[in-house]
Amino acid sequence: MESGGNPLYRCSNCRNPLALVEDLLSKNFIAKSGKAYMFRHAMNVVLGPKYDTQMITGRYTVADVFCSKCNERLGWKYVQSYDMKNRYKEGTFILEELKMFQQY
Ligand SMILES: [Zn+2]
Repeated sequence: MESGGNPLYRCSNCRNPLALVEDLLSKNFIAKSGKAYMFRHAMNVVLGPKYDTQMITGRYTVADVFCSKCNERLGWKYVQSYDMKNRYKEGTFILEELKMFQQY
């Protein structure tokens, strides 16, 4: 297998590296634009102010996530969950599939 470093996701707008494939936790998220992925970490992103929001799975405190280079809104970060069963999401990043491309 070819190995030229770690495969990662980049901003589709400006090619800024955003997240490593090894930090991908789930592809089963839905954002307004369509599919979204959950990551353990994200890099080169800027967080907006925290706010509370009601989602299908419960109530959360989240912060919008923006590309640090082009300011495109990429998704959101789960800051806190009001529901015990969703605590595992705290600290994770949800990035919209449409806003990224994968590079091997
Ligand atoms: Zn960007």
